[in-house]
Amino acid sequence: MPSTHKHHFLLAAEARTISLPMIQKWSDDEVRSFFEMMRWADTLGTPYCPHCSSNELYTIRTRNQWRCKKCNKTFSVTSGTWLHSTKLPLRTILMAIVISANAVKGIAALQLSRDLGVQYKTAYILNQKIRDSIYKNLNPISLKGEVEIDGMRIKPSKSVLFNKKANRRKKNEVTVLTLKQREGHNLAERFITRVVPSENKDDIRNFVEENVAKDTTIFSDCGAGYTTLHASYDLRTVNHSKEFSGPNGENINGIESNFSRYRRFLTGQIHHQHDKYLHLYAQEIAFREENRRRSNGDLVEMLLIHLLSLAEDPEFRGYWGARRRVTTARFSDSFSSAA
Ligand SMILES: [Zn+2]
Repeated sequence: MPSTHKHHFLLAAEARTISLPMIQKWSDDEVRSFFEMMRWADTLGTPYCPHCSSNELYTIRTRNQWRCKKCNKTFSVTSGTWLHSTKLPLRTILMAIVISANAVKGIAALQLSRDLGVQYKTAYILNQKIRDSIYKNLNPISLKGEVEIDGMRIKPSKSVLFNKKANRRKKNEVTVLTLKQREGHNLAERFITRVVPSENKDDIRNFVEENVAKDTTIFSDCGAGYTTLHASYDLRTVNHSKEFSGPNGENINGIESNFSRYRRFLTGQIHHQHDKYLHLYAQEIAFREENRRRSNGDLVEMLLIHLLSLAEDPEFRGYWGARRRVTTARFSDSFSSAA
């Protein structure tokens, strides 16, 4: 961790290990090799068949594909991954990931489309796939050691999930519950988020029991929803109306910093927060907070490994195609599910 007496980490040279001019200088082969390294990281970039795992392959150089000698199936570096159906050149995808990795408060699809010179819908889908891959690649191991919890109220501009009687009275506000595992005792800092209707004890208990190991020390504020955690955890509370931090380190300041990043993202970047995707936004910002001291090259590799490690994304595949009848011709052209 850099000393706080020096300048901010993002200003330091070690925070910058990849850039758009660097990628522009790479040959097409170099770009593809980078994708191969990320997809087949376990074999140091040597491809193997996604269907039967055989490494006996014919190379079809003209199409940048391989054919498996065992099962006879053909595949490319993106086959079977979330990037499978994209028509974008690999270099453009890599540039999008670099731009996203550099955007410490997240990036709007409109800005990404302008930066890359691609259609808005293309940038939107890529952006959502990046978010969804962060969400679905969450480390499944329970948090332990010292864990903070807090909730942040937000009011989505469009609501479908929680637009029910109980919530209508509260103007459709929802709560983003956030858990933070503190760094230390051989544990890395980690964040897990969940969007719930309110800071109520049932949602809090379910969220914590699913994500935090028993007997962990948990820090919270004095909200009534947190008191039931006493039963299974070592709960320590801080009274925010009286103090910023208790005498024995009872504080949730780490989560506050994540929330302020999230607020800046919601007001400064995306403007319209559809509550259907709030969980993706919340976890994206938590990912940025969690990895804020990594170089941008590390972030690019993490994001690309996420995108290439997953099966095809059912949620955003054909996203605009399904809306073809209600959108303009401009939005319905050129959408393809072809490889
Ligand atoms: Zn095969």
